[in-house]
Amino acid sequence: MSLPNWFILQSPPNLNIEIREWKQLALHRVKLLENLPSNPSQVIRDNFPTYEDSLNEIYEQYRLGAYLLRLVAATNRSLEAWLIESEGDLFERLYFDRTTPDQKRAIFKRVFGEQNVMEYEEFKNSRDESKNVILAKLYNDYISGLRRGASRDFLICVHFSQVPWMISNRKGYLRKGWVVSNENSFRGSLKKAFEKSLQMEIESSQNLLGVREDIDEAVQELEQQLAKHTQIRSRFSSEDLVGSLLHNHPEIFPPCMIYLSTELESTRRLTHTKRLQLGFFLKRVGMSVEEQLNYWFEKSIDNVNISYSEFLRTSGYQIRHLYGLEGGKKDYNVPKCSTIATSYFCPFIHLDPESLHEFLAENHLTKAHSVEISSNLIDQLVEQSSKDPTSSCTKYFSYIYNRTPYRKIVHPLQWVRISSKIIGIYNVENQEPKEETKRETQ
Ligand code: SF4
Repeated sequence: MSLPNWFILQSPPNLNIEIREWKQLALHRVKLLENLPSNPSQVIRDNFPTYEDSLNEIYEQYRLGAYLLRLVAATNRSLEAWLIESEGDLFERLYFDRTTPDQKRAIFKRVFGEQNVMEYEEFKNSRDESKNVILAKLYNDYISGLRRGASRDFLICVHFSQVPWMISNRKGYLRKGWVVSNENSFRGSLKKAFEKSLQMEIESSQNLLGVREDIDEAVQELEQQLAKHTQIRSRFSSEDLVGSLLHNHPEIFPPCMIYLSTELESTRRLTHTKRLQLGFFLKRVGMSVEEQLNYWFEKSIDNVNISYSEFLRTSGYQIRHLYGLEGGKKDYNVPKCSTIATSYFCPFIHLDPESLHEFLAENHLTKAHSVEISSNLIDQLVEQSSKDPTSSCTKYFSYIYNRTPYRKIVHPLQWVRISSKIIGIYNVENQEPKEETKRETQ
């Protein structure tokens, strides 16, 4: 059972390499990571041919490039965040497209730890579970999937300490401290574990800094060349964008937030839950509390004829509350789509068909991208929204950006994260969607 050659956490091949060549390999890796969000299938096809022995050298060069980038990330926290997120996305894609079942098992062991992963049979026998009917059913379902040719999946067991998200979301079968499930349902947790391992590798790679002058110089030069990834991350917080995110970057807002901010612009009033929803969102895309206080003071009609200090005492308290600065001091997150469906506002659920049609045909998103979606397609989206609103939202995303997201949209920030990558803006705090409904496309 060996790791696939594209996997970058193996020890790098021989570092005896001419520094200029090494730097080129790192820049090639950067290019690949930058291109990935806009067309993942193409990037994989062009750069990761199906593995053959003769390709060994290419894959070694990829690993060398990736390794030098780890050194650069070790010197700069913003670059580190960008690198971990981008490599995580590439990992997810290669795991799906370029990995055999045996290699997948090897990856499970590498990222979760050898002692935290067991094969189904091993678990059943070592834990004396041969009479467990739930385990037997899991196995039968897996075998029938194989017979139908429907799945490349396999059953695997991971220690509960490694997959807290699966425990809290009751995914998989928890038995004797192990989560038993098909490989597919571990993928979200696997990606997080990969990112964590990469972060540890970045930390430990610091040992190589300060040892060779030529490496230190190359790292410094690369850090400067990659500065755009750190500058872009802080753009939303800059003064000139205060209160005008929608006007500057309407193309990254999900439909629910576009709708709310437009409603606020036109009616100058939002209900309490809508205010909360938009407020959580603006906070997470980078608005500081002062910026948001200004935003609501200017936009909301409720604040006409009151002074700013009076506003701070009333509505201001609620806004500070959003940031965990008042009351229970909780730092709230943006709710996921399923919570929005029941307690907040989603156009795909809460608008009547006619209003939804009108909204989807024309809003800030369609204007920003100059897209026209035919009435027929919008009819299909409206019809689908009554049965599966998040699928309808995902399909709308693919019309707007001309890209199908790798996963179904289940969280407003997921929309922002994917769209901001497509258009080359990186900023949103690293808040993973709580659900990981997967839908492979393309
Ligand atoms: S499905 Fe989610 S992201 Fe899309 S509009 Fe509704 S709440 Fe927003």
